[in-house]
Amino acid sequence: VDCETDPTVGLNALAKHVYEIAASKGWHDTDPLPRAATMLVNIHGEVSEAWEEVRKADFDPTRIYASEKGKPEGLPVELADVLIRVLDMAAALGIDIEHAVRLKSAFNETRPHRHGGKRA
Ligand SMILES: [Mg+2]
Repeated sequence: VDCETDPTVGLNALAKHVYEIAASKGWHDTDPLPRAATMLVNIHGEVSEAWEEVRKADFDPTRIYASEKGKPEGLPVELADVLIRVLDMAAALGIDIEHAVRLKSAFNETRPHRHGGKRA
C-alpha cells in the first residue's frame, strides 16, 4: 500500500505510515506514555505555525511556497503538520484514530444547532 498516493488508505494506515517515518528518525526511541504531554505540545506548536501563516500580510490559504532551504511552507503545510503529529501520536499510543473520528463525528451530528450557546 502506498500511503502517500493511494486515496483509499484509511487514517490508521496513514497513522502507521507517519509513525514509522518518525520512528526511523529516532523520535520513538523511548516509551511513548511519558512523552504524551510533549506530543500534545508539539501538535500545538504546529497550530501556532499555522497561526503565523494566517497573520502574514500576503496570506493566501492555499499557497504553498518553499523556504530558502527548500522546505515546503504555507497554511496547507502547517495543517498537514498538525495532522501528521496527531496521527503519529495516535499510532504511538495505540489509539484507533479512525474509529475515534467516526465515533465523534457521529455524535457531533446529533448535537443541536450551535450547541452550548458559545459565539465561536
Ligand atoms: Mg510546521
